[in-house]
Amino acid sequence: MRFKGSDHNRGIAVDLTILDRNGNPLDMGTAFDEFSPKSHHTYIELSPEVLKNWLLKTTMASIGLYHINTEWWHYTWNGKKPPVGKWVWDCN
Ligand SMILES: [Zn+2]
Repeated sequence: MRFKGSDHNRGIAVDLTILDRNGNPLDMGTAFDEFSPKSHHTYIELSPEVLKNWLLKTTMASIGLYHINTEWWHYTWNGKKPPVGKWVWDCN
């Protein structure tokens, strides 16, 4: 049986941001999971302060994780994709 799922289900993708020294998230231009053009890496009509936070993208790339253009928070390991797990969360 073939299971469907995202790279998150394969354990090779992560959603993250950068926090300042006080634990506050840096302004990335949008909220996490805001699916709008403003969340795209190519969107540049943002303040200079927000554009400076492209540090996240360059840092992730420097360790071999790649991005998808539409989500500034999503990074994926650039290697062989393992299968989707067969276990089910025990959620109520
Ligand atoms: Zn993600």
